[in-house]
Amino acid sequence: MYEIMTPGPTQVRENVLAVRSLPCTNPDLDPDFYTFYKETCELISALLHTKNEALILGGEGILGLEAACAGLTEPGDRVLVIDNGVFGKGFADFVKMYGGDPVLYTVDYLEAVDVDALAAYLEKDHNFKYATVVHCDTPSGVLNDIARICPLLKSYGILTVVDSVSAMFGEEVRVDDYQIDLLCGGSQKVVSAPPGLTFVTVSPTAWTAMKERNTPIASFYANLMTFDGYFEKQWFPYTMPISDIRGLRAAFENIKADTTILERHAKIAGAVRTALTSCGLKLHTRKGYSNTVSVFDVPRETTAAAILTAVREQFNIMLAGSFDVLEGQVIRIGHMGENARAEKLEAVMKALDAVLPELGVPLTGSLTETYLEALK
Ligand SMILES: *Cc1c(COP(=O)(O)O)cnc(C)c1O
Repeated sequence: MYEIMTPGPTQVRENVLAVRSLPCTNPDLDPDFYTFYKETCELISALLHTKNEALILGGEGILGLEAACAGLTEPGDRVLVIDNGVFGKGFADFVKMYGGDPVLYTVDYLEAVDVDALAAYLEKDHNFKYATVVHCDTPSGVLNDIARICPLLKSYGILTVVDSVSAMFGEEVRVDDYQIDLLCGGSQKVVSAPPGLTFVTVSPTAWTAMKERNTPIASFYANLMTFDGYFEKQWFPYTMPISDIRGLRAAFENIKADTTILERHAKIAGAVRTALTSCGLKLHTRKGYSNTVSVFDVPRETTAAAILTAVREQFNIMLAGSFDVLEGQVIRIGHMGENARAEKLEAVMKALDAVLPELGVPLTGSLTETYLEALK
């Protein structure tokens, strides 16, 4: 087994693994399970600082994004797709798939969205049913300021869909304060449960938009409406993955108990970035760094594959490359959730200290020492 230090899936704590092995009841018929599911959803809402209802769907993070777009898109709807990364742009595919007209607002992939520039754009064109924005675009690690972007969109009556799958709980998310209509999360990033679940918080405005559609939602599985009134009806649209949900609940209880989780992420991420830049490596983005992942450019002396293989084979640590437009260009260190522990990042720094010079990359200092110094 490798020590996975990737930006999701992350490591899973023992108490999460343990509850996943409990005997199963029938989740369609057992009233206790409906209560357990509902209480888990309420815990998610509380941790995200919202009165909005949360729903857990049996499927990966991508299912949440698709369900959000499926629910809000009617044929011909104009949708603003805020694009400064691979996931940002990817929303356009879902919008199109459900008959909408995606309007891409594409800006520099190396920087967080400039909110003032977005405001100037919206002044001229704001006829959108909803907008999509990614909090941390994980392939580059760029972090967008959803606390400012969403209220700006709402000031024009534009519904807000946010993908914070790889940021929430490592970065602050306050759904009600930020005015997020549909917020998507996933089990396998900071939450640190195994892959397989997504959850979405749904504002009253988003419920109304889904209920008042002229055309039915063109999906059964990617459809939040099928959960409407599930508790009163004691009826789930499909059999819930009970073991996964028990694990998710334990992972959220861990987060609830971890009262300094945001500070821990900030401290570790800051120290990693300081170490990388002080020792001659280049962070991929110029502005907007998520505290959940650090991304540096592959030095010209070597390749992403060579670094990843050497770290894996010599140190048993798995780091990640990237994909799409960033394929082969960057290395990503995940410090989210259970990965975000000082000693785990120290091991990563040690591995890179050894491997990079072997591959001909001159480091101008010790990553490990700089990291430890920056943590103090
Ligand atoms: C991981 C992730 C998702 C979900 O992707 P999966 O392939 O379903 O795990 C969605 N958005 C972002 C930004 C992510 O990092």
